Amino acid sequence: MDLLLSEDEKRLRARVRALVDKNIIPRTAELDDTTDVAWDVAAMLVRERILGLVIPEDYGGIGPGVKATEICIVREELARGSANIDVLFTMQGLGSYPIVAAGSEAQKRRFLPPIARAERLAGYALTEPSAGSDLSMIETSAERRGDTYVLNGGKIFISNAGAAGTYTVFVKTDPAAGARGLSCFIVEKEAPGFEVVQQFDLSAPHCIGELAFKNCTVSADQLVGDPGSGFKIAMQTFDVYRPSVGAAAIGMAQAALEESIRYSSGRVQFGHPLIDNQAIQFKLADMATSLDAARMLVYRAAKLKDSGAARVSKEASMAKLFATEAAWRAIDEAVQIHGGNGVRRGMRVERLYRQVRALRIYEGASEIQRLIIARHLRQEYAS
Ligand SMILES: Cc1cc2nc3c(=O)[nH]c(=O)nc-3n(C[C@H](O)[C@H](O)[C@H](O)COP(=O)(O)OP(=O)(O)OC[C@H]3O[C@@H](n4cnc5c(N)ncnc54)[C@H](O)[C@@H]3O)c2cc1C
Repeated sequence: MDLLLSEDEKRLRARVRALVDKNIIPRTAELDDTTDVAWDVAAMLVRERILGLVIPEDYGGIGPGVKATEICIVREELARGSANIDVLFTMQGLGSYPIVAAGSEAQKRRFLPPIARAERLAGYALTEPSAGSDLSMIETSAERRGDTYVLNGGKIFISNAGAAGTYTVFVKTDPAAGARGLSCFIVEKEAPGFEVVQQFDLSAPHCIGELAFKNCTVSADQLVGDPGSGFKIAMQTFDVYRPSVGAAAIGMAQAALEESIRYSSGRVQFGHPLIDNQAIQFKLADMATSLDAARMLVYRAAKLKDSGAARVSKEASMAKLFATEAAWRAIDEAVQIHGGNGVRRGMRVERLYRQVRALRIYEGASEIQRLIIARHLRQEYAS
């Protein structure tokens, strides 16, 4: 794995790992058993020059541009300590990346610095009640009226709903054009007609909810890119952030692996520690091997993106698919190694078991990743 990372990237990993060990792992239960935003941790991530990695330095962030590899490194390490802190970090990136990738200079100067400083949280609003995997079904519309656009409709399953101040929102500007008729807008929580309808509970606490746009009026200056470019912007965003979902899954499973080694070394049955059984050793070996294989795919996709490749959809889908499925299986084995304690509410592996599940669903469920990979294969091998 180390072969894939530069010396600077290894230093970043060591820095984030040390910070997580010292400041986040001692607070995992407190941070993850709530939907409240950990503003103190957000401020720490800003101070420690970690959160700014999702924004270029010209707009208050760090480095000349957003690097997929750095995002993956940070997510893997943060998710090892706290799923909610990983979400806090990644939503600042996911919600702002459409502006980074396609926004005007004026939009970047106005909207990115407060996100880099975590003064405003970001949200990314794509999903609707009738449009999850199939984005052509998006119904929320934006109609041009003079110097403004008027948005009507609703979004569901939006992370940071209510907590975020700045959302990138994907809506139809050309209802006849399916997914190609989508456009991206920046909507602030203060916009007239913008409403957080409700927040709801998931199996693992996560700040999430439903948004409504009722004649929500935004300036025409808040259109990101050209009308009709929304689908392309959403896919560009996924190219950077999909591998990092895999990285977060690996971080969670790494925590489960470490817990399993610790637990099976201490728990005695039949006169010896569980870890002395070859069957337990094989589980641990399979968990570690699958996580390393997942890392190869995740960092390959990220490196490819950072090398300047225009699109890395196939590699990003392979990374997300394989890593989230491998992590889920590894965490399931960790629960098994813990026996009854594995399903006791509050045990680390029990929480991880609930937390990892959503990663096979959001930013494109596993089935959708397979569809994308298969579509690329057909194109590549069609005679
Ligand atoms: C924790 C969490 C956070 C989220 N955060 C956000 C967010 O911040 N912003 C946002 O916009 N959305 C967010 N989402 C929404 C998420 O992206 C969607 O849930 C996801 O895209 C799936 O859409 P859906 O739930 O409507 O499922 P559906 O599209 O209804 O799919 C249901 C099932 O059918 C399968 N399926 C669908 N079509 C096909 C097909 N053609 N072939 C085979 N199988 C198929 C899917 O893979 C899935 O297993 C979040 C979701 C969760 C759980």
